[in-house]
Amino acid sequence: MIHLCLAKMSETGAEQKFVQEAFDTNWVVPLGPNVNGFESDLKTFLGGNGEMVALSSGTAAVHLALLACGVGAGDEVLVQSFTFCASVNPIKYLGASPVFVGSEAGTWNLDPELLEIAIKDRIAKTGKVPKAVVPVALYGMPYDCARVVEIAGHYGIPVIDEAAEAFGSRFDGRALGTFGKFGVLSFNGNKMITTSGGGALFCGNAEDKGKIAWLATQARDAFPYYQHSEIGYNYRMSNICAGIGRGQMTVAQAHIDHHRHVQELYEKWLDGNGICVHRQPVDKRFDSNFWLTTATLDENLKITGQENVYKNLVRSSVGGVAGTLNATGTPTTDCQPNDNVEALRLFLEQKQIEVRPVWKPMHKQPVYAGTPIYTNGVEEQIFKRGICLPTGPWVGDDEVRYIVKCIREAIVL
Ligand SMILES: *Cc1c(COP(=O)(O)O)cnc(C)c1O
Repeated sequence: MIHLCLAKMSETGAEQKFVQEAFDTNWVVPLGPNVNGFESDLKTFLGGNGEMVALSSGTAAVHLALLACGVGAGDEVLVQSFTFCASVNPIKYLGASPVFVGSEAGTWNLDPELLEIAIKDRIAKTGKVPKAVVPVALYGMPYDCARVVEIAGHYGIPVIDEAAEAFGSRFDGRALGTFGKFGVLSFNGNKMITTSGGGALFCGNAEDKGKIAWLATQARDAFPYYQHSEIGYNYRMSNICAGIGRGQMTVAQAHIDHHRHVQELYEKWLDGNGICVHRQPVDKRFDSNFWLTTATLDENLKITGQENVYKNLVRSSVGGVAGTLNATGTPTTDCQPNDNVEALRLFLEQKQIEVRPVWKPMHKQPVYAGTPIYTNGVEEQIFKRGICLPTGPWVGDDEVRYIVKCIREAIVL
């Protein structure tokens, strides 16, 4: 099976060396030399000023960033609708309410115009300024960092730079993840680099880092006994996972270069005739890591078997793990990828190629029904036509050639 994106360990075994070191020195705990070393590697890699805190997941990073922005019950947070649920759910963990903002067609990310409209309208409607803005660099593509930061700054709203998928992406030469008061990274198994599971929070200064690290270790006050003045979390990264991360840092740039190479191949070999490979804007400030190559299918493109899709109940959840399924008893929803997209997915599955629909916009999720949304409908259109293609270190030129050949085969002329 050619998978969508699986991380790959270094050929030198660097990950195992760091993990072995942790065992040998008995640092099998959620702190230690690998955690410090990984944070320092990340800092160097991203460059610029700021601090890093390694955490147990990207979701934990979003949660703590919101908390440190002062988000609490009754507050509103503006967040890109076109994203994975992990960008949004932590707003709910805190008893606050998301307000969704739509995407622009070029980057597929937060539309700065809509952001400003949303800010003004929320202030008019609630008399309160939203507590944070969460733009997301989806599939590694930078959002318009300059405008988003400028608009949020104009209203004094902190930005949480959600770069879980954008490790190694840049905007105007500066690394994604460093644009906000906080920046989110993820090292889950399918991300640009992995720690098996893990994340990190970029903090603008040492004081914020101290606060985040404190919240991530159960908020222990300075006493010789356990004393707590705030609710904390057990969110620190394990020294074992951080060892994997340090090893991965030795191949990070090579992996990023490879993702960009694969993107180029898809642009060259697949683009056209009803299939549009999503590219970055011609504006040179945008520099994506191309974590996943994505494409959209023209509505009129005919794919083998498209008359028969969505007839049967699905017995697994996308990206899911056995036993975590929530069967709903229906094969369709009121907002789903077009029939030709689903037919292509099924066709390629037969060819041992995994492709997936793009993220379903959060304002179309039943769990967020009734949540305010400011949109031009761009993300819903992309969701209906979009598809994610295999990329990553396991996908070489031959695999891309095979994938493109199979896609051509699926098209009914
Ligand atoms: C993966 C991902 C996250 C969450 O990261 P985890 O480490 O899996 O918790 C957050 N946001 C986006 C956009 C992601 O793709």
